[in-house]
Amino acid sequence: MNQRSKRVSAHEIPWPRDVTELHVHLGGSVPLSRLWEIALDRGIRGIGVGYEDFVGMLDLRESLPDLDSYLNVFDKIELIQSGPGAVRESVITAVHHAYSRGGMVYPHGERGISDTPPCLFALRRLELRWNPLKRTGTVFLKGSHAGLYDLDRIIKSSIDALDEVESALKHRIHVGHILCFGRDMTFEANRALARKIRLWRERSSKIIGIDLAGHESLNPLSSPRQLEEMRIVFDEAGPQLGRTIHLGETPHVDMHTFVNTIEALQPTRLSHPIGAVRALWEHHDDRGLKIMAERGIVCELNVRASILTGAVSEIKEYSKILDTFDRYGIRYTFSTDAPSLLDTTLAQELLVLVHSGAARCDQILTALRTADEASFLPIRAL
Ligand SMILES: [Zn+2]
Repeated sequence: MNQRSKRVSAHEIPWPRDVTELHVHLGGSVPLSRLWEIALDRGIRGIGVGYEDFVGMLDLRESLPDLDSYLNVFDKIELIQSGPGAVRESVITAVHHAYSRGGMVYPHGERGISDTPPCLFALRRLELRWNPLKRTGTVFLKGSHAGLYDLDRIIKSSIDALDEVESALKHRIHVGHILCFGRDMTFEANRALARKIRLWRERSSKIIGIDLAGHESLNPLSSPRQLEEMRIVFDEAGPQLGRTIHLGETPHVDMHTFVNTIEALQPTRLSHPIGAVRALWEHHDDRGLKIMAERGIVCELNVRASILTGAVSEIKEYSKILDTFDRYGIRYTFSTDAPSLLDTTLAQELLVLVHSGAARCDQILTALRTADEASFLPIRAL
């Protein structure tokens, strides 16, 4: 029977006890109230004249014109999270929230669904991604950059914070850092970051992977030179790291570039590569889907975040997207992207998919197993 034809209650779904979340940005994982306190405490300017003003600047719950607008919010947050102290505090807050709320449904009770239990599962493995260079208080202007804080201290602080928070939570949650390069950063800046990642990976297994994030409009990697530079950056970070890329979220990346980027950077996972699906639907071009299938690349789908950025038109469109991936044998996972900024949890995002008829229960449960299997975290009993 088509499970989309009837509304399935959360009680009827055989949720696993423990789950993994693969795609969460540090910038989106600290509640606005906490960011406000950090900003005030540190005397950061440009945060508005009061808390309401601040929330208005950073609130992501309403729809935005495009991905660039979504990312502009993160630019502000990255400055607030700059420096070893703010990074430490942000990492600890992010992990606490994931641990205590990841499996909960609407933790604030504002939009509660009456027939759902408060907690569906426990979030026990988390991959937290962020760009350390953007926590140096760096302002990127006209291609140049200058930071206030020391990059080594920032990365060390984030590693120590994970050790501390995992210990505080009696190792009932296991967390690793995915460190992001920036499409909006120069080759030299990305390369400097890659060298630091390699250095710190040799010292700590808490760094589990690398990512490429940021405005596709600024650097789609469509020129051979840009792509070769990014290949050098990825290789410089070292061989022991998992590789994922934000790719194909906007029309700025065409399918030729999409395929070339995969061939050059060799990712095993891609973040919301919706462009590959649209190329099939709109132009009968399945080059992107084929290369993902051939290489067994796993898609990280961020449910509501991709609607906010316009990559996905509405929740029901996921039905067609998932069916397309299934048809090509491409595995996918679901994540929140920015749980605190979107005022959501992984459990909530999954329920929205099920209740809207956008995903069947078996698709959700398979995606949860895929997240366990595709994680860059080493397997470890909790
Ligand atoms: Zn993302």
